[in-house]
Amino acid sequence: MKKTILVTGSSRGIGKAIALYLSKKGFNLVLHCRNQIAQAEAVVAEIETLDQSARLLQFDITDRAQCAEQISQDIEIHGAYYGVVCNAGITADNAFPSLTGEEWDSVINTNLNGFYNVLHPIIMPMIRQRKPGRIVTLSSASGIMGNRGQVNYSAAKAGIIGATKALALELAKRDITVNCVAPGLIATDMLNDLPLDELKKMIPARRIGRADEVAATVAFLLSEDAGYITRQVISVNGGLC
Ligand code: NDP
Repeated sequence: MKKTILVTGSSRGIGKAIALYLSKKGFNLVLHCRNQIAQAEAVVAEIETLDQSARLLQFDITDRAQCAEQISQDIEIHGAYYGVVCNAGITADNAFPSLTGEEWDSVINTNLNGFYNVLHPIIMPMIRQRKPGRIVTLSSASGIMGNRGQVNYSAAKAGIIGATKALALELAKRDITVNCVAPGLIATDMLNDLPLDELKKMIPARRIGRADEVAATVAFLLSEDAGYITRQVISVNGGLC
């Protein structure tokens, strides 16, 4: 039977690239979005043209009750997941003196609280399977080195690294690996409105990364070959940090 992987935020950007990459590797996909249902349905259709299968969940990862209900229901019907990619995330950039409480809260609630809200309903069913499992979280270069204008985002993404490493310790003896991928600047909607020509000068590779380059790293960590890699942070950033 095909292994099933949930990829949060797979309506577009890096999540979409991860979902397409994994479906080409023969995994069964559970796609997910918050608002962009038409875009997410288009990803399902694209996966089906590859003769692979995908289903779609829609919930807000900041809503703990909604996450628990939707994910538990999906697991009850289809069985526990082999893998999860906690990819959904947002930015709300501002210099710290101007950073509003709303900008702080929304970024922490989505990126960091989303870790708990999504993974908590998934972990026990995964453990009960008594089979190997894979969890990959998405941090950022901003969470490793700190980035001006992103005090909220750097805090959330650094928090994800700590949470990932701690969960890896708890799950290692169960043969469930937990790793983090930390992209640098990747061409998605998230970079709209950023001065890319200026930013490229800071990147040793002198270019913005592609979503499929992140997807390839995530897919490796989800593969059987990566069974002895856990509690690690892998950067995909053109040498940025
Ligand atoms: P995009 O903005 O392109 O896509 C974000 C995705 O997350 C969408 O699918 C969106 O759903 C979903 N999402 C956002 N908020 C919520 C929410 N509250 N509940 C449910 N789903 C939500 O982002 P990227 O593809 O660029 O980023 C993916 C991940 O990679 C993020 O965690 C980001 O922080 C990280 N990252 C990105 C970098 C980059 O340069 N692009 C660099 C470093 C890290 P919908 O379409 O329905 O709105």
